[in-house]
Amino acid sequence: MTTSPEKPRVLTGDTPTGSLHLGHYVGSIENRLAMQDEYDCYVFVANVHALTTRADDVASVRADTISIVKDWLSCGIDPNKTTLFLQSEIPAVAELTWYFAMLLGYGRLMKNPTVKDEIRVKNLGENYSFGFLMYPVGQIADILAFRPQFVPVGEDQIPHIEMTREVARRFDQLYCGVDPHTDDAEYASAGGVFPIPAAKTGRVSRLTGLDGVNKMSKSLGNAIFLTDEPRQVQKKCNKIFTGRGSMDDPPILENNTILEYLKAFHTDPARVEELTADYAASKLGDGHLKKEAATAINAFLDPIRARRARITDDDVIDILKAGTAKANTTAEQTLWQAKQAAKFDFFERDITLR
Ligand code: ATP
Ligand code: MG
Repeated sequence: MTTSPEKPRVLTGDTPTGSLHLGHYVGSIENRLAMQDEYDCYVFVANVHALTTRADDVASVRADTISIVKDWLSCGIDPNKTTLFLQSEIPAVAELTWYFAMLLGYGRLMKNPTVKDEIRVKNLGENYSFGFLMYPVGQIADILAFRPQFVPVGEDQIPHIEMTREVARRFDQLYCGVDPHTDDAEYASAGGVFPIPAAKTGRVSRLTGLDGVNKMSKSLGNAIFLTDEPRQVQKKCNKIFTGRGSMDDPPILENNTILEYLKAFHTDPARVEELTADYAASKLGDGHLKKEAATAINAFLDPIRARRARITDDDVIDILKAGTAKANTTAEQTLWQAKQAAKFDFFERDITLR
């Protein structure tokens, strides 16, 4: 594991609620790949946050934890450049969650549109756990524990990053004496423990799901997974909803999910333009376009499938253990600095993994 303290940091993570899908790739993974040479990158499995909706199914959370790391590695995330780690084994994150929860109003949290959206689309009604409301606070700790400059995320995460920025400012003002008029970029140099991190969205910041409406999501049954077999990809593409009643109706070009996938995954933009023009002129139907989309997606997934087949569960555990040890060193440094600022610096300590 190479350490590179001189490089600016990047932090991001995924919840192990299923395999990664195409939305993750274009929304976040692509940025992680592009950044891993020039930044000190940390990527974590949010296995504690997976319990918000799956506390009764811990076996799946564990299996998905391994699987998600395989997804990263098969996409080309290099554990020699990017620190891959497990959220549940970073005690500093759990502790920072408490401190940050004190700096965030309940009303502010409930105004977060992503929280409201998740309650709605996941049909949680009034039945979400207290821990569900804690997860955005935990996410603030996940991020700030690493004092990153950038957080590569999809569009749905922007409200969480905004809340993270607010809490970082509040902590720095309250405990580090940073003047509230300070520019976000100057918080660290003005004496703040926490630099104000920025979200970095991907080439496609919100890939639509097969339902043609919601964002592609692991939990909504509308995703094409990186692990899907070629035939599954074709079957799923055949189900893409375009809003068109019958083939006699004119094609709907706006918010057309098949066209969105072609643009995102076809390697030849000229061919996509040609297909779009023929579709608009009703020379091609939905069926043809869906076939082209599936072919493009399968071509994109082939090298990922090949790499995945070579990664074992033991490889994943070894990589996670080394990464988690390194991540703990960084997170402990942050926690200690935060405790010093907040006059909670009674004893120093070390974390050892066995
Ligand atoms: P869940 O349904 O369990 O919330 P998810 O599919 O939303 O799962 P997350 O693990 O919550 O996936 O998200 C991981 C990262 O991928 C986040 O940065 C998120 O913004 C991004 N992401 C997820 N879905 C999409 C999408 N459809 N388009 C672009 N980015 C996405
Ligand atoms: Mg999500």
